[in-house]
Amino acid sequence: MAMQEEFLIIGAGILGSATAWHLAQLQVPNITVIDLDLAGTYSSSELNAGGARATWWQDINMELARDSLIFYRTIAADIQFFPKGYLFLYPRSKWEIALSKQKRYESLGIPVEYLEPGEIKSRLPEFTNLKGITGATYSPEDGLLDPHLLKEYYRQGAKDHGVTFLDRHYFTGAQIEQGRLNAIQTQVWRGEGLPEKILHTLITEHRLSGDHWETHTFHPHIVINCTGAWLGSTGLHFQKKVPVHPLRRQISLFSSHEEDFGSRGMIVDSSGLYFHAEGGSDGLILAGYSNKDEPAGFRFQYDGASFFDRKIWLRLYRRGGGRYFTALKHLRGWSGLYGISPDRTALLGRVPGMANLYELGAATGRGVMQSYALGRAMAELVTLGRFSTLDATPLDPNRFQQGGFLPENLDI
Ligand SMILES: Cc1cc2nc3c(=O)[nH]c(=O)nc-3n(C[C@H](O)[C@H](O)[C@H](O)COP(=O)(O)OP(=O)(O)OC[C@H]3O[C@@H](n4cnc5c(N)ncnc54)[C@H](O)[C@@H]3O)c2cc1C
Repeated sequence: MAMQEEFLIIGAGILGSATAWHLAQLQVPNITVIDLDLAGTYSSSELNAGGARATWWQDINMELARDSLIFYRTIAADIQFFPKGYLFLYPRSKWEIALSKQKRYESLGIPVEYLEPGEIKSRLPEFTNLKGITGATYSPEDGLLDPHLLKEYYRQGAKDHGVTFLDRHYFTGAQIEQGRLNAIQTQVWRGEGLPEKILHTLITEHRLSGDHWETHTFHPHIVINCTGAWLGSTGLHFQKKVPVHPLRRQISLFSSHEEDFGSRGMIVDSSGLYFHAEGGSDGLILAGYSNKDEPAGFRFQYDGASFFDRKIWLRLYRRGGGRYFTALKHLRGWSGLYGISPDRTALLGRVPGMANLYELGAATGRGVMQSYALGRAMAELVTLGRFSTLDATPLDPNRFQQGGFLPENLDI
């Protein structure tokens, strides 16, 4: 007789993998993690910028990132974590709020320096034009890490403790009786490789059928939905309206042989543009910009040179005042998804009205940097019924009904 899974995690991105790792550390047996694509072709965890900072505006977001960063420092070599700092430039409209957070950062042990425009120039001489910038924060212990290595760290550690990761399993339905999940239905691809048309399911949500598909039903005691930007659509299988939508975010990779950012970490312009030297440098720079008018949806197209020219290069060129950023070479780029909740803060907790269904996701641009503490909180909740280290109650998915909004306005 097949062993029954105690815990089934749907979605093997960084949050599903971190949750599995923490559960395994707690010696929980019979944990299974399923995903249509363990390689993560469309998973945000493979398509992000690798930034890690504790400087947020909501207390819970600061605390989750701070605790995670403390852990990342202990495994820095494994995950290529480099605390090269975050330089965050503020427009006037946000500067007062940034200043008001100073005491909170201090009390949480997050070192942050506040910089006037003169000091910004000495730290970032390439920005000769500081128009629209009132001040900046510099947080020296924040930095950059390799998200793929971090995800693999969690996965390998979980596997070493007996966790099973099942590839090519697409979650398609659930049996629910009186607020209790009895079964999870999946379709399993048994064909060769994982063709693009199969992966496309994640974008189009077309039902899968035909040769090489088998159905498989799981009967776990507890289910944790970690499908990231798909939380809203997978929630429908549980007959729940989860207020999460996918939003495309684009990243460009380009080279610059005149500017060297290799010794500096992430730089966030007041316009929302962010960039850092990629892969230790060699003139390679990764930059992102979040379009304000981006429509919701599973969109993965990269707008190529037009995105780079208009959203990235133009902003940098203006900052450089004609002296810097004059000879940038666009190389390539990609798109990934943010999972967005109504207040842009993650959801973590038991799904309202369900006895044995939990969800964790919608971490917008913070899922990597908070993954350690989010996974820990989820593992504590499902095993102990409460949080024993950091109180993550504010992230309860039911908070919107109770007016408990946590608007994170330092999101980019
Ligand atoms: C451009 C960009 C830049 C970012 N920059 C940063 C950054 O600098 N720092 C940071 O901390 N965060 C950043 N993020 C955010 C971060 O990447 C995400 O918050 C994080 O990866 C979310 O992880 P997840 O595990 O929730 O989701 P995902 O990694 O998306 O994993 C969800 C998984 O669910 C699977 N799935 C979905 N539906 C089904 C189904 N029906 N059946 C089976 N499997 C299913 C998918 O295949 C996927 O593997 C960025 C994101 C983007 C897009």
